[in-house]
Amino acid sequence: MARIIDGKALSAVVKEEVKAKVVELEARYGRRPCLAVIIVGENPASQVYVRNKVKAAAFTGIESLQLELPSDISEELLLKRIAELNADPAVDGILVQLPLPKHIDEEKVIDAIAREKDVDGFHPGNVAGLWLGKDCIVPCTPAGVMRMIDSIGCDLNGKTAVVVGRSNIVGKPVAKLLLDRNATVTIAHSRTRDLAAVTRGADVLVAAVGRPRMITGDMVKPGAVVIDVGINRTDEGKIVGDVDFDSVSEVAGWITPVPGGVGPMTIAMLMENTIRCFVEHNS
Ligand code: NDP
Repeated sequence: MARIIDGKALSAVVKEEVKAKVVELEARYGRRPCLAVIIVGENPASQVYVRNKVKAAAFTGIESLQLELPSDISEELLLKRIAELNADPAVDGILVQLPLPKHIDEEKVIDAIAREKDVDGFHPGNVAGLWLGKDCIVPCTPAGVMRMIDSIGCDLNGKTAVVVGRSNIVGKPVAKLLLDRNATVTIAHSRTRDLAAVTRGADVLVAAVGRPRMITGDMVKPGAVVIDVGINRTDEGKIVGDVDFDSVSEVAGWITPVPGGVGPMTIAMLMENTIRCFVEHNS
């Protein structure tokens, strides 16, 4: 039976560390880090995510500034708001909750956030930095995945890692971070032939697909570390991951639950990224 990597417990530890750091930073710089969160429209899932981020900021002592903008806001006005936040010396980090309404070009919006305030790590400057091996802001979910793997003392050197999913926000950056630790990395996607054969070779398997419970026990190598990034709502309204927890936990060595796994770690890493932006902003 697999052991659980408890994201909720681990994120609590990280948030306590951030809280202590905020006290130290306030004593040194005379103000606390400030995170601006922009939400456009009333997407219920986005509202939950934003609420959780603002709550975590309050817990750690990070100031937050929430901008709730109407769904019919023009792209021009949204870009103007971002430019104002970029120029505001009291703001250290800026996050625009995705997805955005269809009439707004997400890429343009992400590009508009100042690279040094890009707490999500989605700006092209940070993406390039990650792929070039520079010290830069790393996207929160991939950073959370790595922290979870580290928390169990897993040495990735020479291990076989498979990432299912190749999105810019999860799959690709996770693969690069695993590669940086000398894992031999395969990225699988919707065109991968015989996915089960690929995933069965993985010592470390990361699922970031968005398909409820698609990774089943027969697709997993005995003893593997399985990280489930997926957040899916079933027809019954239950939140489940991309991994079929019941069958996979019979085979894997370690597994992350959903909820209570990567989700809380993503938010904890956002707090760490905000601290990083604050420190760089002040130095
Ligand atoms: P995307 O939809 O952007 O990407 C999904 C990826 O899965 C694509 O690369 C796609 O392949 C691949 N895929 C789809 N179907 C299959 C299949 N049958 N077999 C193999 N690969 C497949 O999703 P995201 O990366 O944004 O998110 C993935 C999941 O993670 C979602 O459930 C999302 O809600 C969750 N998530 C969770 C976060 C957290 O904090 N825990 C944060 C961000 C996301 P192709 O490229 O070929 O289309």
